[in-house]
Amino acid sequence: MEETYYQRNRERVLATQKSKRSDPLDKAKVAAYYREWYRVNGRNRTPVPVEVSRERNRKFPEHARFSMKVGYEIKVGRLVRPDICPRCGREARVKACYRNYERWDHFVWLCASCHKKEHLHKLPVRDLRGV
Ligand SMILES: [Zn+2]
Ligand SMILES: [Zn+2]
Repeated sequence: MEETYYQRNRERVLATQKSKRSDPLDKAKVAAYYREWYRVNGRNRTPVPVEVSRERNRKFPEHARFSMKVGYEIKVGRLVRPDICPRCGREARVKACYRNYERWDHFVWLCASCHKKEHLHKLPVRDLRGV
């Protein structure tokens, strides 16, 4: 039976992990690396949530309207947001995913990861952030 790399080098891997975690110099190096990375690439990968939702509202005005409607229905107690995702059964903050933009009550509750999967085939991923 072949041993995996990890099994063969277990001691060494653990030792390196330990020393990495406790070495403050290493942390500073990592921080500097990311500062430089952000300076070069910008912070595109971590967009400001407010801007993301503004952009989304511009692209999908119906979505914004329906979200408000769902929010209202929850507030007045006519709708309950489940604590678990009906699709995968995991405990998560679920969001309404609308089947179409004709009826606000045609939606399914989905957690972030199921929601992403749900849309992969329909929309480009960049339109998904926070939707
Ligand atoms: Zn899920
Ligand atoms: Zn959706």
